[in-house]
Amino acid sequence: MNVCVIGAGYVGLVTGTIFADLGNEVVCVDNAKKKVDMLNAGEMPIYEPGLREMVHRNMEDGRLSFTTSIAKGVKTSKVIFIAVGTPPKANGESDLAAVEAVAKEIAENLDDYKIIVNKSTVPVGTGNFVRNIIEKHKQSNAEFDVVSNPEFLKEGTAIADSLYPDRIVIGVPNQHVAMALLELYAPLERPMLITDVESAELIKYASNAFLATKISFINFIANICEKAGADVSLVAKGMGYDSRIGKDFLQAGLGYGGSCFPKDTLSLLCTAKKFGEDASLLEAVIQINDNRIPHFVRRIEQKLKSLRGKVIGILGLAFKPNTDDLRDAKSIEIINALKEKGAIVKTYDPVAMDNAKHILKDITFCKNAYEAALRADALVVVTEWNEFKLLNLEKIRKGMRQAYLFDGRNVYTKERVERAGFEYISIGKR
Ligand code: NAD
Repeated sequence: MNVCVIGAGYVGLVTGTIFADLGNEVVCVDNAKKKVDMLNAGEMPIYEPGLREMVHRNMEDGRLSFTTSIAKGVKTSKVIFIAVGTPPKANGESDLAAVEAVAKEIAENLDDYKIIVNKSTVPVGTGNFVRNIIEKHKQSNAEFDVVSNPEFLKEGTAIADSLYPDRIVIGVPNQHVAMALLELYAPLERPMLITDVESAELIKYASNAFLATKISFINFIANICEKAGADVSLVAKGMGYDSRIGKDFLQAGLGYGGSCFPKDTLSLLCTAKKFGEDASLLEAVIQINDNRIPHFVRRIEQKLKSLRGKVIGILGLAFKPNTDDLRDAKSIEIINALKEKGAIVKTYDPVAMDNAKHILKDITFCKNAYEAALRADALVVVTEWNEFKLLNLEKIRKGMRQAYLFDGRNVYTKERVERAGFEYISIGKR
């Protein structure tokens, strides 16, 4: 099948590459010329394990190409995916400007029947919004259908998530268009759910908000554990054995960040309000999450007395391991809070430092974790990269000014850290 994917970011680039790998002819379009030039030169604009090899293989086989021209992508394809960003506006609503711009340009180039698929995470009703834009701007009498096919991949495991998704949700306006999408996804042999467009749009937000709720719930329990002398890891384990609950997304920590959960919970909140629904459940989820960093910084401050002039080593900047994505990363929030209180920040991340240098000023970027800890008063784990789990903690402690280790992701055990001579402060444990 001839497929066009508009927006070659974390979602679009992976999706396009997977479709090419399944034997389709894929054109990825992006209006960021630099990104397209990099991709055409075989360079990856993002860090995603396994992506480079798959892109190269499919480019060499002639099934995957990159362009800045939507016109070219639309004219050569039967199915057109929209995978552009939908960032939050200041009021929390999803900003659909990029979706709108792309829909308009698709309309202007519509020359034949096309299936236009919203893969971006968009509020319920956006299918109709896109349909209306295309109707308004199309310059031929070509027919088209608008489908919702939300994406559930996770950065860091995006290739595996796209090859073996738990489910593929396809929201369609009619059965005929469903067949084309079923055909496209059939080689994956994964569960497929055909719904109406609105249900598909809501499945995405309901799923992300539910996962965010699990995270905020366990963080709420973690706060109680800290006061009551219980251990949140054991509480979560005991809960997770219950098959009705499940163990995933019950890791207490600094809260959820990244490019999806914060904006998607806010967007669903706006949707609920728009429909006049009481959204206090979601408000609490968001508030608990917003309180994570202030709460953790207070604990750091209590131990160090004052943060003024104290040197803090931050381990990890990416919003989670195996990605270079810093959108809504907790690292930014904690570093800014520490700096505001007069701390001097040194940091190390295995892959996100280049991106971080554009965002974080007046901090020292180090070449490894040991350097970040050198002459620091405290070391703070913010992202649970594997390489932090097996650090030589004795060596780290010897280089530090004071021996405090604040573990924002509970990657270590108290015994191990204390054996290395640290005072250990983790989440949800006294
Ligand atoms: P991204 O910012 O990495 O990629 C979006 C791309 O679209 C960028 O490369 C940008 O240059 C391009 N773009 C913007 N406007 C354009 C235009 N007018 N024409 C052509 N290209 C344009 O974003 P992302 O993380 O890939 O997310 C895309 C969508 O997928 C969002 O709605 C997001 O919520 C959703 N999503 C993201 C993830 C994730 O883990 N990142 C997972 C599931 C769903």
